[in-house]
Amino acid sequence: MKIINVSKPVIGPAEKKAVMKTMESGMLVQGEKVAEFEKLFAKLCGTKYAVAVNSGTAALHTALYALGIKPGDEVITTPFTFVATANAVLMVGAKPVFVDIQSDTFNIDPIKIKEAITKKTRAIIAVDLFGQPADFEEINRIAAKHKLFVVEDAAQSINAKYQGKRTGNLADIGCFSLYATKNIMCGEGGIITTNCKTHYKRCLLFRNHGQLPDRKYSYSDLGYNYRMTDLEAVICIEQLKKLDKITKKRQKIAQKYNNSFLNMKNLTIPDLRNKRTHAYHQYTLRVKGNKGLRDKFRKYLLKNRVQSNVFYPYPLYKFNHLSTGARCPVAEKATTEVLSIPIHPSLSKAETDYIIRIINQYEN
Ligand SMILES: *Cc1c(COP(=O)(O)O)cnc(C)c1O
Repeated sequence: MKIINVSKPVIGPAEKKAVMKTMESGMLVQGEKVAEFEKLFAKLCGTKYAVAVNSGTAALHTALYALGIKPGDEVITTPFTFVATANAVLMVGAKPVFVDIQSDTFNIDPIKIKEAITKKTRAIIAVDLFGQPADFEEINRIAAKHKLFVVEDAAQSINAKYQGKRTGNLADIGCFSLYATKNIMCGEGGIITTNCKTHYKRCLLFRNHGQLPDRKYSYSDLGYNYRMTDLEAVICIEQLKKLDKITKKRQKIAQKYNNSFLNMKNLTIPDLRNKRTHAYHQYTLRVKGNKGLRDKFRKYLLKNRVQSNVFYPYPLYKFNHLSTGARCPVAEKATTEVLSIPIHPSLSKAETDYIIRIINQYEN
């Protein structure tokens, strides 16, 4: 038996055909297909606008630029996320301020956001970690009271819902990644969503060298080349058609895992809070106790050909360029206990049953 991987992209004949057709058309760079993908994506999220870029990191950088975040500003975020969330803050010259997470959802804790607000705070980046929307009702309320912007890092939560609204439409601006391991993907890509015309226009400028839309070779500000190509856009268009199926399959596997692991005394299944759905980008267990026990369990799984992964092994402030003096004990505890097991939609019933059996046997 082959090893069962943590993630696997869903690529079918439709994606291949679409890429070939685009290659033959000779129109490879950002064109009609990118525009079509943006329209479809905005419709999915229920936002007025979407701007496609070439990575999730570019999406975050562009979003912070669009909001006017500048050197000297502080941006509150979580240390328990992929590094790009915090790096984007540095990219606009601002300072990340790390606040701790909720131990059950792994998402930023709104109570701790309040305590971290200073006169310099301009924005909050909340991440929908592993696919579960953060507490946006509370986060938006705090932001409104202190006149802060809210960015939703929805890189992992495409198609999840919160109070009936889809991710990408829960804050001032939403950022998605279309990297190869994400729920839908095009290899490398990203997209930004917003309801605000001003933010939208600033995103368009930034993505294309700061060039004025109606005046070629005239520039209003520093910009980057963050454009997506039509080759990637056609893959995304095909992937979007499968999104509901992909999401349902992930949710179904999660339900099966939850039922099977609920009563295991050394494992905690992922929590799902009220009024939201989970996109299950990762199915993340807690191996109760310490890092040694978690790593032992991980070795056991690998010996049985089940790959697993630690998202994330360190709080971001452990790294030199992000060290701010913050200490977040709940996040630190999570780094020693979390383990994500395979949940991608290509898993067969035999494979999920096998994973469940292997895990159930560990404790008995
Ligand atoms: C993947 C990811 C990103 C970065 O996306 P890239 O497309 O790899 O640049 C940012 N934030 C989170 C939470 C992610 O999971």
